[in-house]
Amino acid sequence: MSEALLELVEVERRFSVSAGLFRGRRALHAVNGVSLALRRGEVLGLVGESGCGKSTLGRMLLGLMPASAGEIRLEGRPLAAFSTRELARRVQPIFQDPYSSLNPRKTVGAIVGLPLAVHGIEADARARRKRVQETMERVGLPPRFFHSYPNQLSGGQRQRVAIARALVMRPEILICDEPTSALDVSVQSQILNLLEDMRREFDLTYLLISHNLAVVEHIATRVAVMYLGRIVEEADTVQLFRAPRHPYTRALLASVLTPEPGLGVPDTHLGVSYPNPLDPPPGCTFHPRCGEAMPVCRERAPAALADVRGRVECHLYDNAVK
Ligand code: SF4
Repeated sequence: MSEALLELVEVERRFSVSAGLFRGRRALHAVNGVSLALRRGEVLGLVGESGCGKSTLGRMLLGLMPASAGEIRLEGRPLAAFSTRELARRVQPIFQDPYSSLNPRKTVGAIVGLPLAVHGIEADARARRKRVQETMERVGLPPRFFHSYPNQLSGGQRQRVAIARALVMRPEILICDEPTSALDVSVQSQILNLLEDMRREFDLTYLLISHNLAVVEHIATRVAVMYLGRIVEEADTVQLFRAPRHPYTRALLASVLTPEPGLGVPDTHLGVSYPNPLDPPPGCTFHPRCGEAMPVCRERAPAALADVRGRVECHLYDNAVK
């Protein structure tokens, strides 16, 4: 097993939100006691329904949002100990929507070169331009696009610009948050193949956040399943897709993926809708939707079981409960 490059240890992220008129404010646990390691060289898929906390977790790993409790470490050092520049050199994002994540008033050359300018890397304008052009070429953007604007490009080309903007920093880790969900199906596989090629060429490590299980199966080497702020199952991709253990993972895999990628929610056919994170169910938070729930599930949260097959949080695997 390779070493942990990025690691979350009992990480929590709470938000204080209004519970409604005259009802004051309540704490929303977007991420609730997550321990997870991103190992060097792997593609870790993070899946779950919209609102489960996966994008919040991604933002914390990018240093864009502090943890309310617990610790995030990069190569064993707390993330908070890194300067913004140091962190940007090592961890870069690719966001979902190439239509809104690129400044429409800047040319492609300026967009790709912006992180270098912001962080004072390649101060010499000619050297910076050369690095931008080389990176554009690597991701399949013709040199003529250097002076183009985002609205002159297709969705796939725009996402290539976003990938170039991340790679120009020569990072070690990419946090890819739904990198293909805003694209046409025909373009999605091109972008996934590009990400895979770039990973091999630059020896990168990816966290791939996606609601699309087909995307995750295509590219991820390991998968973590998130539900209401917790990781409920973690396993190698082949293991997880062949023999899922957590009832929620099984429901996700049995789900029919939405024909509208932009909706971002697989239809889990669970009958009961996703719980209000402000008022999570007691015990196992999945119990109102779980066809295998036992009396204990309503009273006690399951402990995590870690073994050769991965890690799962469910009373079905707890010998003391069965
Ligand atoms: Fe279902 Fe109980 Fe397992 Fe939760 S702990 S997933 S309710 S069987």
